Amino acid sequence: MIDGFRASLASSLRRHVDELRRLVEIPSVSAQHRGIDECCQAVVGLLEARGMRTAVHETPYAPVITAHGGGGDTTLLFYEHYDVQPEDPLDEWTTPPFQLTERDGKMYGRGAADTKGNLICRLAAIDAAREVLGDDPIAYTFVIEGEEEIGSPNLEPFIAAHADELRADACLWESGGVDADDRPRVSIGMKGIATFDLRCRVSSYDLHSSLGAVVDNPLYRIAAAIASLRDEAGRVTIDGFLDDVVPLGPADEDALAAVPDHTEQMRRTYGVAGFLGGASGTDLNRRLYLAPCVNVNGIHGGYGGDGTKTVLPREAIAKLDIRLVPRQNPDRVLRAVREHLDRRGFTDVEVVPNVGEWAGRTAVDDPFVALVARTAELAYGVPPVILPSSAGTGPAHPFVEHLRVPFAGAGCNYPGGRAHAPDEHVRIEDFERGRLHSALIVAGLGGRL
Ligand SMILES: [Zn+2]
Repeated sequence: MIDGFRASLASSLRRHVDELRRLVEIPSVSAQHRGIDECCQAVVGLLEARGMRTAVHETPYAPVITAHGGGGDTTLLFYEHYDVQPEDPLDEWTTPPFQLTERDGKMYGRGAADTKGNLICRLAAIDAAREVLGDDPIAYTFVIEGEEEIGSPNLEPFIAAHADELRADACLWESGGVDADDRPRVSIGMKGIATFDLRCRVSSYDLHSSLGAVVDNPLYRIAAAIASLRDEAGRVTIDGFLDDVVPLGPADEDALAAVPDHTEQMRRTYGVAGFLGGASGTDLNRRLYLAPCVNVNGIHGGYGGDGTKTVLPREAIAKLDIRLVPRQNPDRVLRAVREHLDRRGFTDVEVVPNVGEWAGRTAVDDPFVALVARTAELAYGVPPVILPSSAGTGPAHPFVEHLRVPFAGAGCNYPGGRAHAPDEHVRIEDFERGRLHSALIVAGLGGRL
């Protein structure tokens, strides 16, 4: 059976690479609303070519595609997105970002890894199942949004409004692949996020810095406010921040303990001297995958050019994000930040909310997790690492909350794939294994393995 899938997928490799090429050529940059409708239509074309019944649902920003096909008692929901990150800095790309370029066994292009390559893996799975099994072993439902890279602002209401249509037995999440040891990695959770700006204005215009003797400085105010949110070891110190967090259960602890220790590889890869609080091993994995954290993305204000300008800036702005774990409400977290700052005298520092998403996780002992793990071992030849959550954020919460569907990630990614960065790519070998794994999940869910 598996040999049949391998043979089918080997013969269709070029066709699937060509489909990926067509998607990568469309610069569907959601942050700038470029190429969105064109890419949406291209994805609809790929789905309809496979007999899927598609619908394009307008939202206030980028349309959501839904599609249905196949048949049977079991339905697999595929969550994907057709948007990508902006391509800049352009001069750091070896070859043009919106041109799929193959070299050294890799396929380069914006979106190849995140997540157009994974989308093609799902379509390839359907093709292979039809060829090898002679029919569709399960029913398929797709939900493919165009706003994932800007925080999925319209997905939750969409899913809430279409919950009956999207009901499924399991959900294959948009990304996955192998870890630094080339072991398959199955992530079954996503962190949430609360992004916000801190703003402080002290004077009505930029002042001569000699006045710094008597007038406060908004950059100092912002820096002090930020410093109060975290301790030196990286632990979040916002009052009441952890109130809603539920401790890990024994199954989560067991899964966490089985996650390999990549402390040293990570240290070398990222070029850092060490990790916050001296964390390593399971402690590092716990922080990275299962604990919330606060980040400063940038602090802006005053003069940053050549030489000297002795100015006392009128205003300072900082951009921050807080990564959340299940049950932490992004709105409530920002209220906690507000109260925390007020209590410390930072009533002059404004908190301006940006996007927020709740976290979502699947139970480690869900049968779908076992199926994705078993098929990963078949596709990759080694047992997978089960990650109770990704370190990253994705719109998992509406799937957990409104659809109550277990989800797990699988796909064609590896840690060196430079998602969001110049020279984003997938290795062809991973594209092949990602297609195979996706196909085995489809067959396995239909009881046909
Ligand atoms: Zn992304």
